[in-house]
Amino acid sequence: MANNFNTPGVEIRERRLGSITGYCGKAEELVERSRGCSLRNRERKFTQCGTCSSFCATLQLSLIQEAAVVNHAPVGCAGDFSMFNLYNRYGQTKRKMNVSNARLVSTNLTEHDTIFGGKEKLLETLRETYRRFHPKAIFVTASCASGIIGEDIEEAVNEAEAELGIPIASVGCEGFRSQIWATGWDVAFNAILQKIVKPARQKHPERINVITFIGDDYFSELLKPLGLVPDLIVPFVSVDDLSRLSEAGATVQMCSTLGTYFAAGLEKLHGVPEIKSPPPYGLAATDNWLRDISHVLGKEKEAEELIRSERAAIATELESLRGKFKGLKAFVAAGPAHGHSFMSVLQDIGFDLTGGVMLHHDSKLDHGNMKGDTLGHVVKHYGNTDYGVCNKQSFEFIRLIRKLKPDILVIRHPSLVVWGAKLGIPTLFVDDEHLALGYRGLIRYGQKITSWLLNPSIEKNLAKFSPLPYTDWWLEQEPYAFLEVEQ
Ligand code: SF4
Repeated sequence: MANNFNTPGVEIRERRLGSITGYCGKAEELVERSRGCSLRNRERKFTQCGTCSSFCATLQLSLIQEAAVVNHAPVGCAGDFSMFNLYNRYGQTKRKMNVSNARLVSTNLTEHDTIFGGKEKLLETLRETYRRFHPKAIFVTASCASGIIGEDIEEAVNEAEAELGIPIASVGCEGFRSQIWATGWDVAFNAILQKIVKPARQKHPERINVITFIGDDYFSELLKPLGLVPDLIVPFVSVDDLSRLSEAGATVQMCSTLGTYFAAGLEKLHGVPEIKSPPPYGLAATDNWLRDISHVLGKEKEAEELIRSERAAIATELESLRGKFKGLKAFVAAGPAHGHSFMSVLQDIGFDLTGGVMLHHDSKLDHGNMKGDTLGHVVKHYGNTDYGVCNKQSFEFIRLIRKLKPDILVIRHPSLVVWGAKLGIPTLFVDDEHLALGYRGLIRYGQKITSWLLNPSIEKNLAKFSPLPYTDWWLEQEPYAFLEVEQ
């Protein structure tokens, strides 16, 4: 289903991008089936846990500086607020900004409100939020409860906007709407597109929008030789700066799973070209990405020189890393596009990839160009591998890695890291998503893994002293035994 990027709502990923949460097989088969019509989600007969769209939307929006987020929900949905605040304060500290609390408010919907409606409560909360924080914009994130009672958030938002005189956006991120929690990013970014980004007054072709999470800035060193300046968005950016995203020369992404909707929307609504090739992780992706961006901005000669000089600069250290990691097996667990990046990085620095498991799979991206197929890129440049799609089901994950016994696990999500460690497998948490970026990122990441492998005592001790909650019978089942059989 195509987007017009002009409405308050966003179609969920299952319908918009053909996204799924259950698959096991080969990566190449998934690539081929994603391009045709034969890919079906394999539901699970049993599930343990998950995240929700409201989590993703509220987190992204709460990191925008000078804005506030009102979560129209029972107070239980605010259970993650303290973690969002931790991200906010941690990121501000790293960026040497003034450290302050995230502006997060819950309407605390009660049973009474679910019967008689929560509109008045929402209006009152919006007034109180404005009185306390004087934000430059407010985002109202929905919840399962507000969705089930059919609350007209849009109506309340329009009334409050007229009364308070600042942009107020409704964000349709009800947890039950989609099994793909990344849908929450899409609706959050849609709210920014609808209410915050203004038409360009003046173009700045040297400025590049970089859609990302909270990692350190390694984009500057990569783009500086081309005379380009990255603006990392949206965490830790002001409302005013977001209003000028339309003035940039191009939009790139650190992870196309995160920014697919936003980048396509900026191109469609404001004419900012999106760089569609996979993000610059690994040699082949970095070459392609630099060529794409230089083509859009007329910097082809500078890009070829940069590719040549950077490849030469890392050649000796890269060979040494490859020698060190030769014969070692690595396994990746992460969100899809970023996980694919790590599948490339690990193979470039010499590991044998024993497989990967990603939290969901998008059959396509919002721009619709197959050039952006990150899993297709891995298969084309590094070959086929075992591949699974698993939305953080711990019981499935632990069976899988127990069977594969990799020499190192590279994991993006903290809740899965513990399982590798409890099995005694050296497990690296990808805390800074930019560390492996570009050519020099391969060396940085190789050095990080080297030091991690030098002392595996934390995993050894955890495996020795912390019993697993699963019985042997449970662990010995086939990893994907609860995926329904494909017809
Ligand atoms: S929005 Fe729904 S799924 Fe998300 S935390 Fe609230 S109740 Fe849970």
